[in-house]
Amino acid sequence: MSRRVAVAAALVVLTLLVGSRWTTNRSAVLANQRGTVAASPSAVHTTEPAPSPSVSAPPPDVVVAPKPKPKPKPAGSGPFGSMKLTGRKQVALTFDDGPHPMWTPKVLDRLKAAHVKATFCVVGSQVRKYPDLVKRIVREGHTLCNHSWNHELDLGKRPVNEIKANLEATNRAIRKAVPNAKIRYFRQPGGEWTANVVKVAGSLGMLPLGWDVDPRDWEISDAKLIGSRVISHSRAGSIILMHDGGGDRNGTLVACPGVIKNLRSRYGITQLR
Ligand SMILES: [Zn+2]
Repeated sequence: MSRRVAVAAALVVLTLLVGSRWTTNRSAVLANQRGTVAASPSAVHTTEPAPSPSVSAPPPDVVVAPKPKPKPKPAGSGPFGSMKLTGRKQVALTFDDGPHPMWTPKVLDRLKAAHVKATFCVVGSQVRKYPDLVKRIVREGHTLCNHSWNHELDLGKRPVNEIKANLEATNRAIRKAVPNAKIRYFRQPGGEWTANVVKVAGSLGMLPLGWDVDPRDWEISDAKLIGSRVISHSRAGSIILMHDGGGDRNGTLVACPGVIKNLRSRYGITQLR
């Protein structure tokens, strides 16, 4: 009898053990199955980080100032707002560093023959030496531009009172030659513009005249090259920089008729006023 009980008890224990083991395994299998399901493509899709505005949005306590709108600039404006383009389709011719007793009269002759008006950026010390050339420039209807007293490349970096004295001396020399001459523009030598030089020129009623096309005629004498540089670099509204002073300007002079003919047919040539 006691032996039967013992056997029965042993069976019960065995059954309980096996049963619990089977349940444990079964739980593990189910857990695994769930894991497999979770890794199915559709499940993966739902766990992908969805592009949500909160990801890129700054934390709520950060105040983001609205981006300042860029100041509207005139079309083709250069450094410190200097004029680079005429603002219309026609291009403009400018001649720098004169007046020169040898070259300025010849440039004026070419312009007259072609019925073209240009802008002459004159240097004060040259104006003082050759006032009659300034008279002729104005008489023939061209525009005047102050190009500093002695072509000081660093003028814009000098003290404001020095800049002002320099520009005023040049304007005085021009008006000694041509009383009440209209001097609407200033061009900084070498294009070394500064905020100060633009401001001083403005206070004297002059706009900063830059350029768009520079054939570097002052360092080459090849008329064909000067001409092809101007022609290939020009676009609608270009302001073209050439020289009637500061050295041998024969290349520029010889290039002039072809340049004028080409630019006139492509864009027309306007006068800056
Ligand atoms: Zn110059």
